[in-house]
Amino acid sequence: MKKVKVIKVDADKCNGCRACEAICSAFHANPKYSSNNPERSRIRILFNPLKDVYMPVFAGEYTPSECMGRNVYTIDGKQYDECSFCRASCPSRNLFKEPDSGLPLKCDMCESDPPLAEPMCVQWCLSDALTYEEREEEGEEEPQASEMELGLESLADKYGMDKITDAVARMSKKS
Ligand code: SF4
Ligand code: SF4
Repeated sequence: MKKVKVIKVDADKCNGCRACEAICSAFHANPKYSSNNPERSRIRILFNPLKDVYMPVFAGEYTPSECMGRNVYTIDGKQYDECSFCRASCPSRNLFKEPDSGLPLKCDMCESDPPLAEPMCVQWCLSDALTYEEREEEGEEEPQASEMELGLESLADKYGMDKITDAVARMSKKS
């Protein structure tokens, strides 16, 4: 059996306070809680007070290529910009990228040791727009790529594997 972790989003309850962005970026800072920059958060709020749009979106997979097209959604009379609901860290936008390095960000459900009872964004969402559930399903746990592996993959896509290997070899000679 494998454990499936689910964060349910009730967008009607989101008031755009962005506490989730603040705590996610602080929890993942190195050292932990040493900084607080929403651009480093793995949850971002689609935020447009004039249109009454507050929609939490979680960072998903890294992808080296753009989509072939774009989608525009209209829900309850509100039109959402292209790519609004896409979770990918992709080349067509700056969302879900570490702002200094450009490396991809991905929600890791706040994996930590010891484990948290609930992810940090859920704990800090005082409006209950985010709620957490776990369930068990048939199947094996899939090994997840580590943050370092994700970063290396994106660097290899950008610069080529040979350059990465050369750089690592030079660095290991220095140390
Ligand atoms: S903490 Fe909750 S209410 Fe505040 S922006 Fe995030 S999801 Fe919305
Ligand atoms: S579950 Fe954790 S890593 Fe994912 S968005 Fe929420 S605070 Fe960030």
